Amino acid sequence: RILAATREIESKNTELEQQLHESREQIEGLHDSLEAIRFESLTDQLTGIANRKHFDRRLHEAVEIANAEARRLCLAFCDIDHFKKFNDTWGHPTGDQVLRLVGATLKGMANAHDLPARFGGEEFAIIIFDQDIERAAEWADRVRTAVMEKELVRKSTGDSLGRVTMSAGVTSYVPGETVESFLERADQLLYDAKRTGRNRVVSVASAKTPAKVA
Ligand code: GH3
Ligand code: MG
Ligand code: MG
Repeated sequence: RILAATREIESKNTELEQQLHESREQIEGLHDSLEAIRFESLTDQLTGIANRKHFDRRLHEAVEIANAEARRLCLAFCDIDHFKKFNDTWGHPTGDQVLRLVGATLKGMANAHDLPARFGGEEFAIIIFDQDIERAAEWADRVRTAVMEKELVRKSTGDSLGRVTMSAGVTSYVPGETVESFLERADQLLYDAKRTGRNRVVSVASAKTPAKVA
């Protein structure tokens, strides 16, 4: 009887171990799915870079870090020039390709700890850490040049689509200010870049200092 009982316990143990193994695999699977969903919810579908939600979250964190650790923080707002005309001329799917190209250019040129994001439509925003305003504006200007220098070609036909340009506003964080006022200043500088001719970067350290055009 003892032998029979022992065998039964052994077989129960094996069964339980098997169940435990399956549960563990299930949990790992769920964990991976959750990670994938989280990644997807923070990623712009078209360009594959961070989306607006990710950007907003990281900007709030960045402002907290800048205040707590007295770190330099800059923000660049970029917008493609006359993009409506590009779409009207070449079609929306080709416009989408251009958005992918601009997203990839920003990502390729950004430092690993900076966050290039698609803010919406044909607007992109980049959180830049540990750079002064001059360096951040120079960086934005290099991106502007890189975008402008790319000759766009329609893959299917080999037709040249010309070039696109972009404008940018760059500003540095003023310790203690709200995220909203930081964002608003970058947006205003982008507007200034548009107003003063497009295909340019306008930067200013804070609202009190005069605007500098790079
Ligand atoms: P500006 O130089 O003043 O920025 O002019 P603009 O034409 O770029 O600006 P406007 O705001 O008038 O038009 C933005 C255009 O961006 C309109 C829309 O066709 C295009 N756009 C926005 N989102 C997308 C998108 O996801 N895909 C494509 N292909 N185009 C988009
Ligand atoms: Mg535009
Ligand atoms: Mg726009």
